[in-house]
Amino acid sequence: MTFNDLNLIPEILKALSKENYVTPTPIQEQSIPAVLAGRDLLGCAQTGTGKTAAFSLPLIQLLSEDRVKPHKGRRIRSLILTPTRELALQIYENIQAYSQYTQITCSAIIGGVSQKAQERALNQGADIIIATPGRLIDLVNQKRIDLQHIKILVLDEADRMLDMGFIHDVKKIIAKMPSKKQTLFFSATMPPEIAKMVKSLLTDPVRVNI
Ligand code: AMP
Repeated sequence: MTFNDLNLIPEILKALSKENYVTPTPIQEQSIPAVLAGRDLLGCAQTGTGKTAAFSLPLIQLLSEDRVKPHKGRRIRSLILTPTRELALQIYENIQAYSQYTQITCSAIIGGVSQKAQERALNQGADIIIATPGRLIDLVNQKRIDLQHIKILVLDEADRMLDMGFIHDVKKIIAKMPSKKQTLFFSATMPPEIAKMVKSLLTDPVRVNI
């Protein structure tokens, strides 16, 4: 199996070839077709398994194929929530690489850097935002970010967000989004609080365990 067998668009295949990706990892092989088909996903996978590309590649493809543009200007159509700044920046860099030949744009919204710079980036418009919960909830409360047009939500390392005390913010953020959306949920472990979230958020998910 190569990436050519996964029905990815030429713009993404070109980026993968530039990054020297040839063979999908097991999680990518299982996740990419399911996400492209519009399914919710429940993934138990650690960092290092190729998890980021497993959700990012089909996400970029779905957004770039979505030609419904009812209003002028870009709207945030996908949110990736992750526990730490480091992870957010890693995902941001990967998505920049994977989407370089598409029209898709992304922004990172993280604590510890100037909010002004992030607002400038947001004003230019982003299809995807990659965020840590604390900074995002501030911007949502200040009405500087509108989550009403989210079509795909990714929760990365949900169990770590619970351990770090972010789960309340995460729930508040989710409450600001439309309930009809595609959700990709990743957690290495399944404590009761996370299992409850999975049950309320996901509809008939494809399960991927690596
Ligand atoms: P991740 O688990 O998403 O943090 O990915 C771990 C590392 O593997 C990252 O440096 C990726 O750029 C790289 N990577 C992911 N998928 C592939 C692949 N199919 N072929 C080669 N490298 C990959």
